[in-house]
Amino acid sequence: MCYYGQMAATNYVDSRCKTAVNRVYGMPFKWSLNPYRGCVHACHYCYARETHTYLGLNADKDFESQIFVKSNVAEVLDHELSRPGWSGESIAIGTATDAYQAAEKRFRLTRGCLEVISKHKQQFSVVTKSPLIVRDLDLIADIAMHAQVRIYFTVTTIDEALSDKIEPSAAPPVIRLKALETFAAAGITCGVMMAPIMPGLNDRQDQIDAVAEAAAAAGAATFWAGPLRLAPPVRNHFYAFIEREFPTLLPWYLRRMEGQHLPERVRERIEERAGNARVRYGLSLAERRTPPEPPPVRVLPAQLAIPLPELDAPRDIPLRYDPLSA
Ligand code: SF4
Repeated sequence: MCYYGQMAATNYVDSRCKTAVNRVYGMPFKWSLNPYRGCVHACHYCYARETHTYLGLNADKDFESQIFVKSNVAEVLDHELSRPGWSGESIAIGTATDAYQAAEKRFRLTRGCLEVISKHKQQFSVVTKSPLIVRDLDLIADIAMHAQVRIYFTVTTIDEALSDKIEPSAAPPVIRLKALETFAAAGITCGVMMAPIMPGLNDRQDQIDAVAEAAAAAGAATFWAGPLRLAPPVRNHFYAFIEREFPTLLPWYLRRMEGQHLPERVRERIEERAGNARVRYGLSLAERRTPPEPPPVRVLPAQLAIPLPELDAPRDIPLRYDPLSA
């Protein structure tokens, strides 16, 4: 079975990097590492879609098909971790791409970075939706003997039909949980991130419970659920998707989103439901991670700027479905 998207349509762009590890602010981790840029998993809610617009590309098909391959990333990482001033703090891998997407089968950049990490006995975490990470179990288990290692799988739903719609080229949830089980059985601390939570799609208590229950059964130690955030280019993509697949939900999103964020009341309710699920299934919160704030806006030349139509809903659109009353 192939979960890796439309390989034939994917264009890999060699992109040598100047830095491998990047400083992150306002997060529970300080350093991130992304061997690729763009992601063929094509999740419609992906906040990283925005990053392609900094290159003058679009947050839609370009993000899913123009994959930048940082071919020298392991070499640069080795240089950075060798610096006497390097803090040794944990590095989060895969915060703006899936480091185990199809490209990794061919280019093995993530594996190369792990070899460097092993050499330096560096602590790290990975977040992925891909079972390809099992390929590196030997190396990861070896690093875990000397440094703190955390492996996170993103599972937004256990409903395969829903997953097919919202994250069309990622591995089915059950496959991700199988991979988690393999790591947990090897004694490596694993967690499930149920993010993003999208009102009307995966925010009911029973839906959150179902993911938490499956996570616990697979051997996860931690469970976290985080709300949807829509930066402007991602918002346009996500709303077009919602209009196509779940049209009765669109008026609610158009009317209720507060800038990039869900209303506070909805965010609190998500937090409460995730807490209930943790208690029910004996999971802990541990290292909470939230989507990073977008980098500072870079002004693009006028010919590359992407027009963002105003999307405020007319007040007379009826809310045929209101997730807040669900
Ligand atoms: S797997 Fe992660 S990086 Fe890739 S499209 Fe989905 S959310 Fe974005």
